[in-house]
Amino acid sequence: MIRAYLLLGSNTGDRNLLMEAARVRIGLLAGKIAASSALYETAAWGNTEQPPFLNQVIALDTTLDARLLLTTILSVEKSLGRIRTTQWAPRTIDIDILLHGDAVIHEHDLTVPHPALPDRRFALTPLNEIAADLRHPVLQKTIGELLAECVDTLSVTMVNDSR
Ligand code: ADP
Ligand code: MG
Repeated sequence: MIRAYLLLGSNTGDRNLLMEAARVRIGLLAGKIAASSALYETAAWGNTEQPPFLNQVIALDTTLDARLLLTTILSVEKSLGRIRTTQWAPRTIDIDILLHGDAVIHEHDLTVPHPALPDRRFALTPLNEIAADLRHPVLQKTIGELLAECVDTLSVTMVNDSR
């Protein structure tokens, strides 16, 4: 069993419902959700004309390797109506693999740990809530240390803690 951390994001439609549906489908198809952060609201990154995002990190205990997990989360995105248009277009649901155990993967369509993790407060803040002492397998720093060093200026605000 591997502990993976996934980042969920949504900035269009009924964001709360989409995040909930994503969690249910991930739990059915990919493994057991062992922990979930609160929901956080974040201004859209890269395109400030967009509605704000809801973000959440979940800890997933899974038997799927990173490649199979990617295929599974892309199918969940698709089933929830995600249509890929431009790079920073509004999205019903985005699911990214932040970490997959200690795996280090550099393939054309899969990079783990997620390369943007240290630069993005909206990923580090919820991850820090549930795994502050987890060590990044490449940078060899804890999530708490990465968050303390993060220079991202986008504000990330906890919006509810309905767990
Ligand atoms: P982004 O999440 O960067 O905003 P997309 O969700 O459209 O963009 O993802 C584009 C592609 O990124 C996916 O089809 C997937 O193949 C690739 N990808 C590479 N590494 C990862 C990862 N760690 N988690 C999720 N997708 C990844
Ligand atoms: Mg993605």
